[in-house]
Amino acid sequence: MSVAEPLVQPLDDANQRLLDAVHPEDWRNPDLPDVYHLVVAGGGTAGLVSAVGSAGLGARVALVERALLGGDCLNVGCVRLRPRR
Ligand SMILES: Cc1cc2nc3c(=O)[nH]c(=O)nc-3n(C[C@H](O)[C@H](O)[C@H](O)COP(=O)(O)OP(=O)(O)OC[C@H]3O[C@@H](n4cnc5c(N)ncnc54)[C@H](O)[C@@H]3O)c2cc1C
Repeated sequence: MSVAEPLVQPLDDANQRLLDAVHPEDWRNPDLPDVYHLVVAGGGTAGLVSAVGSAGLGARVALVERALLGGDCLNVGCVRLRPRR
């Protein structure tokens, strides 16, 4: 994906709410410690589980996501494709 492409289309109300939740425009990184136990590249299912699980055990974890937090499963795959009742 090129950085010039919108992350989700069309940019309607529903997709704007999605972007606000998983790629907030006003996101600022917190003050960064010098040392981490774990740096996770990618905030999809695998990255989120690794990061949250490790942090829960007391590790200092950095999670780096370049697009949509939640990755394919939570944004376009497993959850979004399910019919809504
Ligand atoms: C249409 C569809 C339907 C699906 N339905 C199901 C289902 O019903 N049940 C099921 O179990 N699975 C389903 N899957 C599979 C499921 O989505 C994947 O198995 C799961 O998303 C894999 O998780 P992941 O964290 O490995 O990768 P991803 O979800 O792909 O997450 C990777 C993340 O890493 C980020 N990233 C990549 N490179 C970098 C980088 N250099 N720096 C920073 N961030 C980076 C990406 O932006 C992305 O957010 C479906 C997939 C699709 C496409």
